[in-house]
Amino acid sequence: MAELPRSRGPTRAPLAVLGAAPAFETPLLTGCPNILDPAETASLIRDAMARRRLTNEGPLVRRLEEQFAAFHGVQHAVAVANATLGLQLVAAALNVSGEVIVPSFTFIGTVHALSWIGLRPVFCDISVETHTLDAARVELAVTRETGAIVGVHLWGRPCDIDGIQRVAGAHGVPVLFDAAHATGSAWQGTRLGRFGRAEVFSLHATKSINGLEGGMVTTNDDELAERVRRLRNFGFSAEGRVVSRGINAKMDEFSAAMALTNLAAFDRLSAHNSAIREAYRHGLARLPGLRLSENPAGDVPSRHYAVVEVDEASPLRRDELCRVLVAERVTPRRYFRPGCHRSPPYASEAPRHPLPVTERLSQTLMQLPTGLQMTPDDATTMVAVLGHALEEAPRVRAALAATAP
Ligand SMILES: *Cc1c(COP(=O)(O)O)cnc(C)c1O
Repeated sequence: MAELPRSRGPTRAPLAVLGAAPAFETPLLTGCPNILDPAETASLIRDAMARRRLTNEGPLVRRLEEQFAAFHGVQHAVAVANATLGLQLVAAALNVSGEVIVPSFTFIGTVHALSWIGLRPVFCDISVETHTLDAARVELAVTRETGAIVGVHLWGRPCDIDGIQRVAGAHGVPVLFDAAHATGSAWQGTRLGRFGRAEVFSLHATKSINGLEGGMVTTNDDELAERVRRLRNFGFSAEGRVVSRGINAKMDEFSAAMALTNLAAFDRLSAHNSAIREAYRHGLARLPGLRLSENPAGDVPSRHYAVVEVDEASPLRRDELCRVLVAERVTPRRYFRPGCHRSPPYASEAPRHPLPVTERLSQTLMQLPTGLQMTPDDATTMVAVLGHALEEAPRVRAALAATAP
């Protein structure tokens, strides 16, 4: 482990925000795509071109579906063009109507997907420990209009599946999970993918395992899987007859090639991200008011998200620390600011239920880069910059105030 900021003394490198050269030559991005095996990916893509089979459930998409299902220990995995369409196909396949109970503290795509097909989001607060739906608050949000409960496994952390299922069961409402962040994640030792009526994973370029764009609907329900397959491809049955309404949500072969090679290297990515998270955790533990938000033990093996909580004890606010990092050529993310309930079009209506945890976390969380773009030493450097900025808080604040954000 490299030296930590406290021990470096006052002669350490000055801060870019105070006029020094940035700490990083190459920019570091939160959500920078991981490409785990470019040579094998290119070879699979060349094969697909030689076959002239580019989409419509080609062999690579089928192989990806099999491997994803096996990886998550679930019967069916249906590849889709993205998770947004995946959520819509599941909701349509289940004939969900009326209101859907969702967290406001999620990527706007969760809520847009549902709203786009005519469902009305009812925002529900989350647990301050897990950042996922608070089942007791879900119970309070259920009405006769509730058509579904949509839990989000945020940061890959499994929702309170028992708690949510209990509420849903008592009211006869289906549960879906937005598992966009949760490739590889487990709940009480069992991989996600089989819970609720269906779960929807994202393979977008910014997610831990990516297929450029892409998503995966998983379920143990044979009939539901069949319906989602049909909806995905214009309502065509396996025999090629149109038997229902449908849309185009198919995944192409190039995306499947990328996702296959990335998924095969999941363990390598996990080990790499574990070392980065450990460097963050260790360094941040020495800084006042900052700490790495912890995952439940053993449940989030991707370690893809490094989320920092900035509390009142920090001499600088979250937004100030983000600007300090940007000056060093690091792009952190303030996910999920300001919360879906404060974003158009949802902001036009006051939330029906109080969202104190959402309000607080959307002002205090900062997501830092992980992945193959960087090393654990880079994480240590980033923490050193943050530590130095906290020590120089008055000067940093003055420098930031002199320039517009
Ligand atoms: C990325 C993301 C989505 C959307 O996934 P796409 O595959 O880009 O459509 C949905 N929900 C959450 C929580 C996400 O982070």
